[in-house]
Amino acid sequence: MKLKNYAEGRWVEHKGYGFEQYNAITGDLISTASSEGLDYEAMTDYARRIGGKALRSMTFYERGFMLKKLALHLDSLKKKYYQISYLSGATKSDSWVDIDGGIGTLFTYASLRRQLGNQRFYVDGDTAKISKNNTFVGQHIMSPKQGVVVHINAFNFPIWGMLEKLSANLIAGVPAIVKPSEITSYLTQAMVEDIIASGIVPEGAIQLDCGKGHGILDTLGSQDLVTFTGSATTGRMLKSLPHIIENSIPFNMEADSLNAAILGEDSAPGTANFDIFIKEVRREMTTKAGQKCTAIRRIMVPENYLEDVQIALGKSLAQTTIGDPANEKVRMGAIVNKSQVDVVRNRVLEMSQKTPIVFGDLDKFEVIGADANKGFFLPPILMLNENPLINTDSHDIECFGPVSTLMPYNGIEEAITLAKMGKGSLVSTIATSNVHIATEYAIEAASYHGRILILNEASAPESTGHGSPMPQLMHGGPGRAGGGEELGGIGSVKHYLQRTALQGHPSMLTEITQRYQYGGVYKEKDVHPFRKYFEDLEIGDTVITAKHTITVADIVNFANVSGDNFYAHMDETSLEGTTFEGRVAHGYFVLSKAAGLFVDAKKGPVLLNYGLDECRFTKPVYPGATIGVRFTVKEKVNQEKKSEDDVAKGIVKFLVDVYDETGDTVALATILTMVKKRNQEDEL
Ligand code: NAP
Repeated sequence: MKLKNYAEGRWVEHKGYGFEQYNAITGDLISTASSEGLDYEAMTDYARRIGGKALRSMTFYERGFMLKKLALHLDSLKKKYYQISYLSGATKSDSWVDIDGGIGTLFTYASLRRQLGNQRFYVDGDTAKISKNNTFVGQHIMSPKQGVVVHINAFNFPIWGMLEKLSANLIAGVPAIVKPSEITSYLTQAMVEDIIASGIVPEGAIQLDCGKGHGILDTLGSQDLVTFTGSATTGRMLKSLPHIIENSIPFNMEADSLNAAILGEDSAPGTANFDIFIKEVRREMTTKAGQKCTAIRRIMVPENYLEDVQIALGKSLAQTTIGDPANEKVRMGAIVNKSQVDVVRNRVLEMSQKTPIVFGDLDKFEVIGADANKGFFLPPILMLNENPLINTDSHDIECFGPVSTLMPYNGIEEAITLAKMGKGSLVSTIATSNVHIATEYAIEAASYHGRILILNEASAPESTGHGSPMPQLMHGGPGRAGGGEELGGIGSVKHYLQRTALQGHPSMLTEITQRYQYGGVYKEKDVHPFRKYFEDLEIGDTVITAKHTITVADIVNFANVSGDNFYAHMDETSLEGTTFEGRVAHGYFVLSKAAGLFVDAKKGPVLLNYGLDECRFTKPVYPGATIGVRFTVKEKVNQEKKSEDDVAKGIVKFLVDVYDETGDTVALATILTMVKKRNQEDEL
């Protein structure tokens, strides 16, 4: 069967013979994949004209909601992907990381919609004050790039690899051309077929090239981007294409890395931490048959524990049953294809010249439920490098399979040196409960790592593991690991956005950004904002309240109610050496009294007040001072209904500016209210 590519709104069969994709367990031919017949110029143009335009007509909020729908849809179909995933040699738990992990990432990115707001651009950070009288301010906004991103992925995570990247570009509003590895593109293709058929994502937002993709970057321009996951060699070659450099095309690279796991000196044999360490290393060596960019490739242990670790790890690895993942007894599946088996074997043989194999035999191992001569199997291999400061093979050569090297260290400083000899890694783990060891390692090794896991008895029960990048946290690493950054919540969304500094009068910037800028014009209306529905509130709507003169009785009463008898409020004689000139009103009283002034008490569209975002007490308030409030609609954040019978509502942020008789601001806060919508049918 010829795998179809999805280009310019159509599924098209590839031309020519194509690359042969084989079942990793049986060795049978599954399908062929090729890029032949694809017109990259037309595809990139289509993405920009059709997909980009459609995505940019939506707000961040709407795109986030779209991701949620997509995640729910794919989740309902996932059984099918698990069946296909077996063909790549993956076990059920390997596939869980790929399939459920990928869909989970979509869900996480969908949730960012509340943070990103209901505009077609994102307002980034606070206003910059750049003038004395506040008539000229600056505000960064970020808007979607008007190009296309090409996602080039490695073979090992055909689903997660695609979805973790699509999550960010789709919510950002940028269309993508997905290019999985031709080795496993049959699985990516199955999911893309469902995405396209669902109609959830606008046409042109996703196109698919299941083949080699050579030339796919040639037609990119200055608004386009590339993300790459794969080997450092391929990544460097593509990143340095003259065309990429000349057009300053952002190129995010995730490459192979030789990740380390370090057993802390406190985690001696016989301790719970020791057992946790052995379990983690075994899991990272055997999950996905070691074909993971985050797998543990270097195991560093105190020299006096070396033998114990070797024995314990050997015993643990001996329990790894290899074979057909459909068989319940099997714990480790196959390598993806014959040529990958050959690459791993050759690298192990090359390394074994100086680094002997101490567990596992490349030629002798049992396979359950499959024919070892037809499928693409390898056993776990543990090597020993007794002189890791001199013999650097283990820090240079990546065996992308169930292979890892054990090495001794003498003191935490040496462990850090060894970890750094990987020249930049995605992740490392240190198994320790000792705060000094953990702190020393975290601080000294951090600049060489994208992520550091501190594993011990306390963190292990809920640890997500050494090998799992989390969507909320950055995935990537410096140096050899490619120098890229993916995931990290909003962090990766920003890769697809252009940051622009807007400068002007606060009133103008309020209108453009739809976020009230301090110093902007107040829109005083006859109707109090608490009497208005969500849709009817305008940014800048303001109430200038009645006033109140603070008394000593206010302070005493508030102290009685709250129990806050701090000396500055209660003891006139204690103020020497403080900044206060007399008894000062509690900041919380000032804010509470402000609420008494700005709240419109009758039942109306405001459902509740659920907190404060920012709060500052900027000037002491003494008895005799007269305060009033400027209460202004600062920002509106949409919310969708949680269920059909939920009340349609949104969040309204109000700026509370409390000022005294001199006009000076004494307290500033942003309060958050939930406000009913007039249109209760509104889905979004
Ligand atoms: P690879 O050989 O470097 O290929 C990576 C991707 O680049 C594949 O889709 C490949 O396509 C494509 N490619 C190669 N030449 C190209 C060209 N001239 N133009 C456009 N695309 C081109 O890596 P792999 O063997 O698939 O994956 C294994 C490696 O990836 C390991 O070294 C592993 O450490 C690394 N990896 C890193 C991460 C990470 O997040 N850092 C994650 C997973 C894997 P074809 O396969 O179709 O030829």
